[in-house]
Amino acid sequence: MSNSNFSAFPVDKIRSGDARYIARLISMVENESPERIAVLQALHSKTTSRSKAHVVGITGPPGSGKSTLTDKIVLELRALDKKVAVLAVDPSSPFSGGAILGDRIRMQRHAADENVYIRSLATRGHLGGLSQAVAESVRVLASAEFDTIIVETVGVGQSEVDIVRCADTILLVSVPGLGDDIQTIKAGVMEIGDIFVVNKADKDGAERVVREIRAMLETAVTNGSETRFSELFTMRAQLRGNAAPDETENHQTVDRANFDQGAFHHIAAQKGAHPNLEIPPVLTTVAETGDGVRELVREIQNHADDLETTGVKLSRRKENIAWELKSVLSRQMLKGLEKSEASSLLSDLAKSVVETKTDFYDALERLAKTMKIETNIL
Ligand code: GDP
Repeated sequence: MSNSNFSAFPVDKIRSGDARYIARLISMVENESPERIAVLQALHSKTTSRSKAHVVGITGPPGSGKSTLTDKIVLELRALDKKVAVLAVDPSSPFSGGAILGDRIRMQRHAADENVYIRSLATRGHLGGLSQAVAESVRVLASAEFDTIIVETVGVGQSEVDIVRCADTILLVSVPGLGDDIQTIKAGVMEIGDIFVVNKADKDGAERVVREIRAMLETAVTNGSETRFSELFTMRAQLRGNAAPDETENHQTVDRANFDQGAFHHIAAQKGAHPNLEIPPVLTTVAETGDGVRELVREIQNHADDLETTGVKLSRRKENIAWELKSVLSRQMLKGLEKSEASSLLSDLAKSVVETKTDFYDALERLAKTMKIETNIL
């Protein structure tokens, strides 16, 4: 792909952090404009260090206080003189730009701060398109030399997890009083959390939610489940020479005093789990007042440092890029299917399978041939 047609787009303006051009390029990304590719390529070719930015994903149920929390995190990071970008992603909104930002009045205190960039993101396309747009926007912001890029998205399901796949550190926000909330987190999402936040700690039941999350994490750790955090813990333990966690470090170990000791040791021994079991941090915050946010930001920085010193940051980014490549490719293949020739063949074949005139796998084979895809199904 040549970028000769788009030499008009001043990518240097992005690199110097000019908000107007950042906004313009992110709009091209949001609109899935084919012209963005050449601009992104030109931008990347001039970007030497993409790993400076720390990307933090925040997800949790609607109303759990994510945007209030994000606002307070931005304040803390600004106090540390960090340059911060926030991407607020709404998977449910078909509208682009501004749609969510209008609701985020509390973020507007940062509007005059040139070291803070806030942007909402939506897309006309489906969720796969949105996660690609987020990943591309994060790369744009990383080129603009932000220290921290926060990606905030609503929800606790698989599609929201996909949206924060580009993050180095993922915060899962819960709140007391949602009843099924923990159950929702359990169903496949817990594994991706690096830091667990129980917000609205001023409300009844926050301590119970903390206990439930910790118990859940302890079970995952003692079972030796493959989670996003297990790689980090393993690498950290190796660096320490398998010594017990240093008491001065702020890492949370399995709460043996409040845990069923018999079951704990039995399961741990059975699964060959590491003797110095650690679980990810579970913190409480009151986003409205800012209580606990300083500790949370410290934990985010600790996590960033850990990722760096253990080398897990690079392996995680490799995984994220591999995932992105796969998801873009599969979207392209689906788009190929929608092209007239394949799509009319698809509906003809479907009919023929229903009428038992064609075998399902023969239909699959014919479609694959038309689309020039190798299949190993037969
Ligand atoms: P989001 O949908 O997750 O982004 O949630 P918001 O940040 O919009 O917050 C939803 C509501 O909860 C708002 O009315 C906030 O003022 C309120 N809220 C946020 N944090 C707290 C908190 O720590 N305690 C209490 N009691 N309310 C909070």
